[in-house]
Amino acid sequence: MPSTQQVLVGVLHCQHDTYCKEFTSQCISCSDKPDKKGFYQVKLHDTILFPEGGGQPSDTGYFNETIKVHDIQRHQLEHIHYTKEPITAGSQVKMTLDWDRRFDHAQQHSGQHLLSAVLEQAPYELPTVGWCMKEKTSYVELDTVGKRLPTQDEWNQVERRLNDLILQALPITCHTRAMETTERPDSLPDDYVGGVIRTIEIEGIDTSLCCGTHVAHLGHLHAAKILHTETIRGGNTRLYFVFGQRLVSSLGEQYELSRQLNKALSVPPSQFLDSVNRLQLQLRTQTKMVKKWQAQVASYAVKDLKHQLESHDVAVVYDEADGGMPYFNILHALIKEHGLLPDDSQKAILLASGGDGQQGGGMLMVLAANDITLKKLAAKVTETLEGAKGGGARGRWTGKATSLAGIEKLADLKLE
Ligand SMILES: [Zn+2]
Repeated sequence: MPSTQQVLVGVLHCQHDTYCKEFTSQCISCSDKPDKKGFYQVKLHDTILFPEGGGQPSDTGYFNETIKVHDIQRHQLEHIHYTKEPITAGSQVKMTLDWDRRFDHAQQHSGQHLLSAVLEQAPYELPTVGWCMKEKTSYVELDTVGKRLPTQDEWNQVERRLNDLILQALPITCHTRAMETTERPDSLPDDYVGGVIRTIEIEGIDTSLCCGTHVAHLGHLHAAKILHTETIRGGNTRLYFVFGQRLVSSLGEQYELSRQLNKALSVPPSQFLDSVNRLQLQLRTQTKMVKKWQAQVASYAVKDLKHQLESHDVAVVYDEADGGMPYFNILHALIKEHGLLPDDSQKAILLASGGDGQQGGGMLMVLAANDITLKKLAAKVTETLEGAKGGGARGRWTGKATSLAGIEKLADLKLE
């Protein structure tokens, strides 16, 4: 007889055996069609894949070796698996757990219980009001309103205490009992009604209500590292941490990054900051210098434009240094300042920048005193330059071209 009832969330196989990596259970139902995101919703009798909850993300895994389980969610006390392929109701499903992800989650979650327990006790007495497991790090949110925050020295002591307790490899056990009708712990989600009360005990240290998957003893946390704090709105504090494998992976990433920086900056890690500060100072000085030069070059360019307009309808400035829009804006301001295009002028100015010796693409700006003249020159520009396009009105057209070749021809245009 196929079973029609699910084992309820609270007493799932994954919740009493964190270390079970393979398991077979019967499929009770599967949605007829995939949902909008392309997922079938599969209900199994029991599962070794943890449904997201209590700050712990869901597991991932496979059904029958090949069908990926992307997500598992709790709906009240039911558990639903999300797959991209349907599963036949009544069939036996062999589940395989993504163990690395699970063990990482269990390490961070048990680590969080340990960290919160240590911080709640004297001499710190900082209660945890929430926590969050992120991809690389996690944090506990501590109620620190009106309290003195531990000093760096004290955070170091907390870290030492965590690592001492990890060395003691104290057992972590899970207890479940039926919920009394009158009992309703505040920390339970609103839609968790009925079912069991589940507590996680770290021997001699802590007992907390929790739905998550935990390591068997503190030794499986390997090591703890406290990272940094962050003050958030309302005066609470986030304390970031990593446990176990994350600590090893993160050290590996940081070490590799440090080696790359060592190569790029040609100084040892102890001088990275000095080196970057020096480079930033250089950059600021050079940026200032470039701006001064741009202003100087622009003042010559404007004189040249004025000279061109005396004998031509169109004046062209080509800026090979690729100053782009910031340079155009300096020029535009100077053109206005010098009154090169008075209200009754029928002439126009074309600014071009980039182009890599005119063969490559570049930025364009057309300026005129009225929109008829502006459109005339803009039309000629798009006609003459390869891949040129743009738009604008009220005397200012901006665009770009894939090549600036032939731009000099535009200087001889008649706009009448
Ligand atoms: Zn928990």
